[in-house]
Amino acid sequence: MRMLLVEDEAKVSELVARALRAERYAVDVAADGPSGWEMADAFNYDLIILDLMLPGFSGAELLRRIRRKNQQVPILILTARDATVEKVANFEAGADDYLTKPFAFAELVMRVKVLLRRGPITRASVLRVADLEIDRLTQQVKRAGRRIELTPKEYALLEYLATNPGRVFSRTMIIEHVWDQSFEGLTNIVDVYVRHLRSKIDDPFPAKLIRTVRGVGYGLGQSAEA
Ligand code: CA
Repeated sequence: MRMLLVEDEAKVSELVARALRAERYAVDVAADGPSGWEMADAFNYDLIILDLMLPGFSGAELLRRIRRKNQQVPILILTARDATVEKVANFEAGADDYLTKPFAFAELVMRVKVLLRRGPITRASVLRVADLEIDRLTQQVKRAGRRIELTPKEYALLEYLATNPGRVFSRTMIIEHVWDQSFEGLTNIVDVYVRHLRSKIDDPFPAKLIRTVRGVGYGLGQSAEA
């Protein structure tokens, strides 16, 4: 396994690289944003470790560039800061894990192992069914490029149907996956919500995506059997 470490503090970089090499990993080292990007662009690493505060351009910018090119490589962020807002932004930009400085090398090595064990990650945060787009991170829904506002339950229902386009889900399955145990509502709740969803997702558009299969349930997109 070959990894890239981008860290400008020479001492930290040296110690981290040594700890990883002791675990038999091959470690390439860069000390600023531009050279980190050059290396990440030139070679498909098995894992990348990024410091956030870097000369040249920031680790956050480097993270975005790497993700544009490579959706799969696991990325671990090192940071001196502990700002939740920033962490959230970096997770959205494609970070897989975080370690706040100062950290113990044993913890770093363990996190690296866990990330490598997971292997290349399919990070499709956007589900697409025809011209419908569902961003599972931001929970934004668009159809034909137009933003559609959904209530939380409408969103949950749509996301569930979109996890497996073409499949037909029974009302019982939908209730079990979209509502929680506290649900004691109407038995026709699914039909009610599908109607709401249709009015937003399908009614304004010529092609209809939500399908009713009589006596069975509902599905999204073309039927798998067709
Ligand atoms: Ca730094």
